[in-house]
Amino acid sequence: MLKNLLLIVALLAVSLPTYGVDEKQEKPYIVVIDTKTQYIFKADPKIKLPAVHPRTGKETITKAMYCEKCAICAKWKAVPLTGTPMDNPEGFSCPIHKELLTAEGKIPNDLKFIEEIKPKRSSPGAN
Ligand SMILES: [Zn+2]
Repeated sequence: MLKNLLLIVALLAVSLPTYGVDEKQEKPYIVVIDTKTQYIFKADPKIKLPAVHPRTGKETITKAMYCEKCAICAKWKAVPLTGTPMDNPEGFSCPIHKELLTAEGKIPNDLKFIEEIKPKRSSPGAN
């Protein structure tokens, strides 16, 4: 686990976060994806990945990158948290188009921050 964290930190150091280009955006973000549902979210660039999905409590939130050619609903793909497109081109390529994904791309206007997603059910006293 600690090893994973170190790898994540190393990865974050070499891959620039996906900052929003829209100046109206109030804070910087990266795009993350729920590998279970394929829903994408914004997240703080400093988020530790994989992160726990607040609704499911499962560690399914991971880094996402963009394929320009894919259908609108599936442009963002989960990518490995370790390695780089240089040493793992397949991991960072679209499974359909076999082209390298990009860190930046179009996102829905109403995309939420994962931090703002409320847990589905709170279980007081269970922490
Ligand atoms: Zn594609």
